[in-house]
Amino acid sequence: MKIAIAGSGALGCGFGYMMQKGGNDVTLLDFWDEHINTIKENGLSVTVNGKEDTINISIGKPEEIKDTFDTIFIFTKSMGLRHMLEEIKHTLTEDTKVVCLLNGLGHANTISEYIPKKNIIMGTTVWTGGLDAPGKTHFMGEGPVEVQNSDENEEEGTRQVVQMMADCGLNGVYSSNVHFTTWRKACVNGTMNALCSLLDCNIKELFDVAQIDELNQGIVSEFSRVAETEGVTLDVEETINYLKGIAEKVGGHYPSMHQDLKNKRPTEIDFLNGMVAKESERRGFEAPYSKQITQLIHAKEDILGIK
Ligand code: NAD
Repeated sequence: MKIAIAGSGALGCGFGYMMQKGGNDVTLLDFWDEHINTIKENGLSVTVNGKEDTINISIGKPEEIKDTFDTIFIFTKSMGLRHMLEEIKHTLTEDTKVVCLLNGLGHANTISEYIPKKNIIMGTTVWTGGLDAPGKTHFMGEGPVEVQNSDENEEEGTRQVVQMMADCGLNGVYSSNVHFTTWRKACVNGTMNALCSLLDCNIKELFDVAQIDELNQGIVSEFSRVAETEGVTLDVEETINYLKGIAEKVGGHYPSMHQDLKNKRPTEIDFLNGMVAKESERRGFEAPYSKQITQLIHAKEDILGIK
């Protein structure tokens, strides 16, 4: 399959590496000069589940690319999605599938402004990654990568993408309700990411604080009420138990938003708690947790001088 990775940071490099090793023709697209030049000169170094490897892989800025692609995986941060969609317009054919595995809410609507519904594949991934230096990343997990076509009549092409990922060891799975999975993942990020970032602690330390049940209850209830308006039922108690299960497994982990702030990078808060606060306000619901968490994360970005 001819594949582009639009946004080749931590996850983009991990997915790109796995798919090229699996026999696909992969091109990385990015805007970060130092990262692009390092990969052009020295190859891409990826440590997958502790095993390091370096490969030669094609990389460039979207504007330099003359090719078109069968499938494009988008791996920008949420706030970079629209810009990337603008920049890759010329690489699309009428059949190019666009896969979005970003964290956050509202992305399907943004993508539908650029891509026909039949070509949009939405999903979530539990693989994780990090950037160690320009051209050097690590990637961890065993899947699954759950995806679903936005048009229920267009399963076939998406199943080919699922099979391709499975063949590359990425554990692709065709989901029957990716909308639910996306909202549930947003609850993970809206609680653990936001609170660990504000409290400067890891997940275990967060789940040991006396206030955690009340905080989780408040945040998840607000997410659940907005999800309901989109036809997604998120049971609050079940979701909180799901969060506790994750906390038990990965307690020592500092969530990615915490790492973004540490690296002085902007957070995705506007597409998580911020989106719930905005939607709640639009619909006349009270959402004090989401609103204040969003304000506090932005205040923290300001203190750190993050633009
Ligand atoms: P990332 O920050 O590593 O990369 C995103 C973009 O930012 C890339 O284009 C990258 O080149 C650029 N970038 C990163 N550091 C830069 C720097 N110092 N200077 C200039 N440009 C820089 O993002 P990611 O972690 O790969 O996440 C992509 C999406 O996937 C997000 O929506 C994220 O929430 C989601 N996600 C991430 C993980 C994870 O473990 N990283 C897990 C699940 C979902």
